Amino acid sequence: MHAWAVAALDLVFPALCPVCEATLAAHRRDPLCGRCWATIRRLGPPACARCGLPLPGAATTAATCGACALEPPAWDWARAGAEYEGVARDALHAFKFHGRRALARPLADLLLEPWGAPLAAASIDALVPVPLARARERERGFNQAALVAERLAGALGVPLRPRWLARVRTTQPQSDLGAAERRANVRGAFAADTAVAGRHVAIVDDVLTTGATVAECARMLRAAGAARVGVLAVARVL
Ligand SMILES: [Zn+2]
Ligand SMILES: [Zn+2]
Repeated sequence: MHAWAVAALDLVFPALCPVCEATLAAHRRDPLCGRCWATIRRLGPPACARCGLPLPGAATTAATCGACALEPPAWDWARAGAEYEGVARDALHAFKFHGRRALARPLADLLLEPWGAPLAAASIDALVPVPLARARERERGFNQAALVAERLAGALGVPLRPRWLARVRTTQPQSDLGAAERRANVRGAFAADTAVAGRHVAIVDDVLTTGATVAECARMLRAAGAARVGVLAVARVL
């Protein structure tokens, strides 16, 4: 839309921030207001090469955290753009549960601003969003991970391959479960296409909590022959 059209619409129907309901005003990152956008706790480099946890003072980009050295995750690398708290959590909630699809743009930007340049240089062959159960996607009208992945794919110049991962059975919502239950809940829930053989793929999800879902996806992709598997999440729990 042209800038003048946005300005004219704002006069009649002032756009309100989906998180705090203020008018968007200066430094807005539509549909987020400038204040909310500025409040989000960013996660940028330096970070653990395997899980993406902030690693203050890390000397190299290959440094890993203690937990990953002890028990490496099922994926090769992970990156997140923000801490899952406050505005980031509220924005993701509005995005997923209140159908605020326009939030895909600023949420993808959270990942792109700190990590866009290294990701564009990482020779990733494809982005694969975590699939939703068909019934849930029908009810919601969209897959939030796919909307973010679409924006990331465009910005990074990497193809989007949503069919490379499929959900083969329904699962309980992970949010109601503990860590061990989460792993059991998603076991065998996904299948990967053999088209991933020899490729470097990045799984895209909205939030990284215990990592049980993306770990299961990573195992399936690897079993189907993926050469390297990364994880991109808008936000992660610290
Ligand atoms: Zn706001
Ligand atoms: Zn780590």
